[in-house]
Amino acid sequence: MKEQRREWPRGMKRTRQRECVLSVLENSDSPLSAMDICGSAQNRDCRLWLSTVYRILELFVKEEVAVKTTMPDGGTSLYELNRYRHRHYAVCLRCRRVLEMDNCPLEKFVPEFSESDFRVTGHRIEMYGYCRECDGKER
Ligand SMILES: [Zn+2]
Ligand SMILES: [Zn+2]
Repeated sequence: MKEQRREWPRGMKRTRQRECVLSVLENSDSPLSAMDICGSAQNRDCRLWLSTVYRILELFVKEEVAVKTTMPDGGTSLYELNRYRHRHYAVCLRCRRVLEMDNCPLEKFVPEFSESDFRVTGHRIEMYGYCRECDGKER
């Protein structure tokens, strides 16, 4: 839950392309699709293939540099910097707007395990629905 000054992730090779994707993520307040990142990178004079962006993003997710949210249609994935904050998002299925939730539905939830012990260190929840502007207009 702390804001950290970002250093280059340990053990990850530093390349210009990775630096570029990282800086796009760093300068965004909301989650971005690979396509968005590709576009922003171009504006920064850094040319990246979409497939390269995907590969870098997958690496970032694996290294916990970025967090990924996938839309229910299995199509679009959104990425944002892992800011080590506890946050959940709701995604509008029509306009793809991303809203940050003010609370965590699992805050008071205590998972039970019958078989073996398990120490929970985190969770992910993704909410889907319609924003105020789109509500009622769907299909
Ligand atoms: Zn909407
Ligand atoms: Zn939560």
